[in-house]
Amino acid sequence: MSESTESESRKLLGRLREALAEDSAGQERLDKITHLIASSMGTEVCSIYLFRDSETLELCATEGLKAESVHQTRLRVGEGLVGRVAKSSHIINTADAPKEKGFRYMPETGEEIYSSFCGVPIQRLGENLGVLVVQSKEARDFSADETYALEVVAMVLAEMTELGAFVGEHDAMQARHRQSVLIKAGSAQEGTAEGHVWLHEPRVVVTNPIADDPETELKRLDEAVDTLRVGVDKMLEGAAGGDKEQLQVLEAYRMFANSKGWMKRMQSDIARGLSAEAAVEKEQSTARARMEQVTDAYLRERLHDLDDVSNRLLRILTGQGAQTGAELPADPILVARNIGPGELLEYGRSLRGIVLEEGSVGSHAAIVARALAIPLIIHADRITTEALNGDHIMVDGDQGIVHLRPDETVVNAFRDKIAMQAEAQERYASIRDKPATTLDGVTMSLTMNAGLMADLPSLEGSGAEGVGLFRTELQFLVRSQMPKRSELSALYARVMDAAKGKRVVFRTLDIGSDKVLPYMTPEDEPNPALGWRAIRVGLDKPGVMRMQLQALLRAANGRPLSVMFPFIAQYEEYTRAVWEMEKAKERERKLGHPLPEKLDLGAMLETPSLGFAPQKFFDEVGFLSIGGNDLKQFFFAADRENERVRKRYDTLNVSFLTFLEGIVARCNHNATPLSFCGEDAGRPLEALCLAAMGLRTLSMRPASIGPVKNLFRRVNLAEVRQVIIDARDQGEQSVRKPVKDYLASQGIIV
Ligand code: PEP
Ligand code: MG
Repeated sequence: MSESTESESRKLLGRLREALAEDSAGQERLDKITHLIASSMGTEVCSIYLFRDSETLELCATEGLKAESVHQTRLRVGEGLVGRVAKSSHIINTADAPKEKGFRYMPETGEEIYSSFCGVPIQRLGENLGVLVVQSKEARDFSADETYALEVVAMVLAEMTELGAFVGEHDAMQARHRQSVLIKAGSAQEGTAEGHVWLHEPRVVVTNPIADDPETELKRLDEAVDTLRVGVDKMLEGAAGGDKEQLQVLEAYRMFANSKGWMKRMQSDIARGLSAEAAVEKEQSTARARMEQVTDAYLRERLHDLDDVSNRLLRILTGQGAQTGAELPADPILVARNIGPGELLEYGRSLRGIVLEEGSVGSHAAIVARALAIPLIIHADRITTEALNGDHIMVDGDQGIVHLRPDETVVNAFRDKIAMQAEAQERYASIRDKPATTLDGVTMSLTMNAGLMADLPSLEGSGAEGVGLFRTELQFLVRSQMPKRSELSALYARVMDAAKGKRVVFRTLDIGSDKVLPYMTPEDEPNPALGWRAIRVGLDKPGVMRMQLQALLRAANGRPLSVMFPFIAQYEEYTRAVWEMEKAKERERKLGHPLPEKLDLGAMLETPSLGFAPQKFFDEVGFLSIGGNDLKQFFFAADRENERVRKRYDTLNVSFLTFLEGIVARCNHNATPLSFCGEDAGRPLEALCLAAMGLRTLSMRPASIGPVKNLFRRVNLAEVRQVIIDARDQGEQSVRKPVKDYLASQGIIV
């Protein structure tokens, strides 16, 4: 780039800044800008098109085209050259526009046939806001320097529009953030919620995109990058020996923080008149735009890392932390790209709902959201760019849908749905103390799943008979170091106290697979779900399990205690786990601590193999609980975390139900107490079919107990069983439809 173009673009930006600083109305500013650009670039035409809605661009200001066409001329995305720029987010630069694919002549603009055309997308952080166009009669290609200058101007325009610099009657941009948006996403925790947006990490606002003293800006950038480097190095030190993925991310941060190319590009942007912040954001925008197009997972991750690093740098430069002074609304719905379990726990039950741009069904955040019973939406595309703090938002975790700034009809329909649910809740409350007895006299035992102390109040409210599954891993997952035995035993004791004598089944640490402890070096496994996890880790490295068993014994302090071991795949694993418990008891006895008056030991049946275990296993095991989430993924060989396959096979598939029936038969034969504690136990139709297969104890989310019990109390279980048997005899693949149809014939809609 020559000195002269550098100062040209700086001059242009300088004039732009003056125009923006003047106290004029939005439209006047836009007009000035087009005039300024056309005269600086020596073109007859300069126009600014902004998005009116997600599909339509509107000519908002022009120098050279007919003034009457402003706010009249509209284009669909993809239509004409301007529409193509908007659609592809790529510059179109041509000396012979009429020959270009998609060229459209728009007589209403008084457009003569302009030969040259250069259109640059106006985008902010990967979000398309409009198109900046220059046109001239003379057939010429715009030079790389000229297109660069246009890009910089487009970026400043984007920044200014975001700041509301063009607020006016016709301001399409402002309209954009007022429009209602519907996002179809995924659901990681059911439930519905209405509230107001709380951005977990609010966007950094760059208020000074243009600077006239490059020296100062370069110095600011240098200092900020230094601070960033020091910060990343510190994080790396702190994470040494920890989670491999986290280390990989931090290494990537360090790589970017030391990247000469990155630095150089930002320095050259500053030399052309941008402020340090704007230079960082310009790079960030480019990375975001690439992110949209890249399909390679690794590359996408790295672009995400660059995005994070840019955010950090922006925060350093602007001094804007997560605290922006905004107040947490009374009904907050958290919006974030992603969130860790610890941060989520800090918000606790104050949140009404959570909407993540990324996230996964099995993530730690999802585990916490589930434990807190807060609706959680994942893969909500663009939510962090669309949502502003305080926006009205409705979250439908049942359907995986987010309504941002919903219009009145949506609000009404959604509120109707919530009201119906509330009505149903009242109905459930009225049967809270009644038994889950079917019309033909079968009484089901309904217990709840828990994982946090905060879950325990639900024990009373939901009418659960006890805690059928207490997932102990949360206390391990949300800490940065291994919890101490004394901490665990205090917590378990509080859980037992809160249960007031009702049975709590503690499951020993179930880590590995998707649950990786930050302070344990993870094994690099090609197939973690089939890898070194749960009891396998517990038996191979028994230190943690011993500590946990001791904590449990101590917490019981003489009271009855129930413990189950996760992921037992064969008899010998169970006996070795029991042996560990025997040793723990022995230690406690020697130390003079009281032992539980009754110790109930069981296993989770999560692999098909255990259903075929030798007779002696069924003779010896104290009780069994079917971990349907894992069992189903192994039964169908369909990863429970993989969106592509996780819903592919129906729990009510005849093969799966028949398999479960076989397990019930074996347990009945040996009088082995059996329960089912996967998510399906909390879905009324599934729960009913499980009961029809002979299960009598189901453990579920507390919120599911009401709906499940309500259904049981209205059905004849023997008839449901007959429907299933008939469907099986007729070769149906799934019994879902036959059972649903039967229920409908009884006036029950599920
Ligand atoms: C299961 O696998 O069904 C289960 C209850 O355990 P988790 O979901 O914690 O793996
Ligand atoms: Mg499991």
